[in-house]
Amino acid sequence: MPKENDLVVLKFGGTSVQDSASINNVINIVKNIKGRKVVVVSAISRATTSLENIAKYASKSKIADSEKLLEETINRHHTIINDLITDQKLKSEAVERIISYHRHIAELIKGLSIINELSLRTLDAFRSFGELMSSTVIFHAMKSAGMDIELIDSRNIIKTNNDFSRAYPDFEISAQNAETILKPLLNGEKIILTQGFIASTEDGITTTMGRESSDFSAAIYGSLLNAGEIQIWTDVDGVLTTDPNIIPHSLKLSEISFKEMEELSNFGAKVLHKNSVKPALKKNIPIKILNSKNTKSSGTIVSSKLSYPKLVKSITYKKNIIVLRVQPKESLGQFIFWEMMLSILSRHKPQIDLFLSSSNSIIIVIAESAYTKIHYDELKSEFSEISDCEIVNEKILITLVGSDLSSIDNFEQRIFISNPGVKADSVLFGYSRHSFSLLIDEKDFVKTMKNLHKEFFEGQLTNNSLFENTLKKKERLMAK
Ligand code: ADP
Ligand code: ASP
Ligand code: MG
Repeated sequence: MPKENDLVVLKFGGTSVQDSASINNVINIVKNIKGRKVVVVSAISRATTSLENIAKYASKSKIADSEKLLEETINRHHTIINDLITDQKLKSEAVERIISYHRHIAELIKGLSIINELSLRTLDAFRSFGELMSSTVIFHAMKSAGMDIELIDSRNIIKTNNDFSRAYPDFEISAQNAETILKPLLNGEKIILTQGFIASTEDGITTTMGRESSDFSAAIYGSLLNAGEIQIWTDVDGVLTTDPNIIPHSLKLSEISFKEMEELSNFGAKVLHKNSVKPALKKNIPIKILNSKNTKSSGTIVSSKLSYPKLVKSITYKKNIIVLRVQPKESLGQFIFWEMMLSILSRHKPQIDLFLSSSNSIIIVIAESAYTKIHYDELKSEFSEISDCEIVNEKILITLVGSDLSSIDNFEQRIFISNPGVKADSVLFGYSRHSFSLLIDEKDFVKTMKNLHKEFFEGQLTNNSLFENTLKKKERLMAK
């Protein structure tokens, strides 16, 4: 009987499966990993956003736009089938499945164009086709490459509540499904391929767990199966000192603790979905962040080990946030106000990043996810009934993450001295002292990021083995 711990969950994100060459690369990576394997895949890059737009066009009766975008998305899958699947039987099977998904989406488009309404439940149905189609194509390509693989529909394993668009799993029910459906296959040495992001309610209605949540799916599978390791394969060398789109020379971290990583993804680092750390932390399963385009890089290990205390490890940010400045109406007593405010918040369930309060005013910082946008106007009008409420949009929340930040010598001074002229509205240490956030004007964003990166990281390479240089894109291509 194989040991539980030889089990690896591997997740490949949208760019790692974006085209035939990338999928070929994925096949080689999976083949080279030892042990029992569960492979979780995202939709091919941009497919989920396209499916959202297809649904939005349809609900506004823009049928031609909707169908054109659908055609483009479907064709990308047919191209991959043509390029990668050599076995004729497997090829026609894959083509048939994609045609059947195409038909199904076309029917949904017709329905939406009649009712002219798009609920979060229907949006989830549309979104789910991205992962359903990518996994179909990848499954047949892997089979054609001689792999002993089984395609499992994630909706039969991960069961969630019906909070469409950001559904949350029931780990107990899902664990039973994993035990009865997945364990026998894994013990029979089959590789399992499944979809990230999608799941279903107990009644079988399709849900999704939030944009970018395939990482979370991988962590859920790791937890359900008590895996030895969760590998997140993406398009960067690991967790970096900041988003490389803002600072191209950002450095790679060799390791980071669960708690720090959780804070980093909560405050916006796209490299790992914010819900992913908890299931891994609970079962103490290390997460490795790896680059599918540069397999020579050692990646970043996220684990319970906390090395390098009193150090800033990474800087992250959140754009498109809503800042609610609330001054309670004097006619309302303090406790009545709080009660009414909590009732509004619990009805709309916005994702609150920061909550600052003084005796007569409150600042609520909300990540403006697609979900919150839908509720934006209602939220504002309800708050106006109980307070003088101002909503500010052009702000960015920058967060420094590390360990025991409050013990770093001159920490706050270094932040402000390195940023002369920048006005920060609110500053706050996170509860755990793993983070320090500042709210700044959009116009100061890039300048502040550059200054902070220089202050806390540049010059660190020589005196700290935590930080490593990453290969620039061009160098990476040459190294191949
Ligand atoms: P995937 O499609 O594989 O899930 P994502 O695009 O969701 O990949 O996440 C990887 C991207 O996260 C990187 O390309 C990078 O631009 C961005 N990113 C933001 N902050 C960081 C960070 N601190 N470290 C690494 N990548 C980051
Ligand atoms: N395909 C989904 C998205 O684009 C989930 C993911 O990629 O993680 O949001
Ligand atoms: Mg992602």
